[in-house]
Amino acid sequence: MKIKKIWFILYPLIILLISIMVIFILKLFQKPTNNTNNSTSTTYSEKATTVSKELNIYDNLMNHEYSKTVEKLLEEELFNEDYLDEYYQIDYVDTKEFANYLNILLNKNYNSSEINYIFKNFSKEIEILLDMDYIDILKYKDITNFDLSKLERYQTYQEQNDYDLKTVVTYVNIGLDLKGYSEYKEYTTEEAQNDLTILVNKYHKLPDNYEPNDLVSLSYNSSYKLRKEAAEAFEKLTSAGTLENVYFYPFSPYRSFETQKVIYNRYKDRDGETKADTYSARPGFSEHQLGLAVDVRSPNLNDNITPETYEWMLNNSYKYGFIVRYPKGKQFITQYIEEPWHIRYLGVDLATKVHDSNLTYDEYYDLYIETHN
Ligand SMILES: [Zn+2]
Repeated sequence: MKIKKIWFILYPLIILLISIMVIFILKLFQKPTNNTNNSTSTTYSEKATTVSKELNIYDNLMNHEYSKTVEKLLEEELFNEDYLDEYYQIDYVDTKEFANYLNILLNKNYNSSEINYIFKNFSKEIEILLDMDYIDILKYKDITNFDLSKLERYQTYQEQNDYDLKTVVTYVNIGLDLKGYSEYKEYTTEEAQNDLTILVNKYHKLPDNYEPNDLVSLSYNSSYKLRKEAAEAFEKLTSAGTLENVYFYPFSPYRSFETQKVIYNRYKDRDGETKADTYSARPGFSEHQLGLAVDVRSPNLNDNITPETYEWMLNNSYKYGFIVRYPKGKQFITQYIEEPWHIRYLGVDLATKVHDSNLTYDEYYDLYIETHN
């Protein structure tokens, strides 16, 4: 009898307790309301309110969630009633000329999702888009090496070529739409000395006076030098080849800026600049000046390797930190004729990644090493 009485009281209590817990849990999972505008406040400033009343849109505002974007436009007296629906959908970004630029973009027919994307990703270089006609910017959304400053070049290159957009972006970033040497980045001595991965090509130059501070002789010939790490790796590569009856010798290792100048000028005098540029680097633009590249030859050849050795090099050199830098069939990208004999040291980790990617180092560097923006 007594037990029954206790339950008569406890049962509603338990139900109540469970209800409270359920409500509490539901609240926890409920989405916070109305924060599409990153608002810190939820009411319009005095100025915005006054202007909205003058414009007869106060009631409209009151029927919508607070929008910091709308508030800014009202405060700066840049509000355009035609765009009211879009304004509500555009997230405020604390950047210079937000309200003004927003109107310009709307005027160019960008929609609210495009504008949100633009402000979120390119608020610092937005002027580039303001100077151009509308472009379908979202098509570049998933392209990690996209660089807004090259937008016009992407557009032009795509009109002229039949590549997919990803390829267009990479090729333009590499500089394939330009003539070599017309525009290039010059490394500092520190960068050249401290970064074993730097890309040297017709668009990336070494300082004229750069000479690595850790050059050591190769065992084959004491006047042949490479940077210490590359030299040690090269000895290992040579031994590995010997074990598999693949023999090769260095014939052109580190070259100074001055040496490269003499070599290039000799070719230029002989074949003319255009032709020389297809097989010889101008001084400052040679990997040999890095002390990380070496040309190798087969025993019976003066300045080349046999097809078998080339094959071996393609499949094995990365294990010792080297890549074949100007492989066959990639002339269009590397901007040099194929050079089976030229290998570049990158360290085992990076050389392995480049080997596995099947890309030239120019492409790999742009996609995975160079920072864009
Ligand atoms: Zn070479």
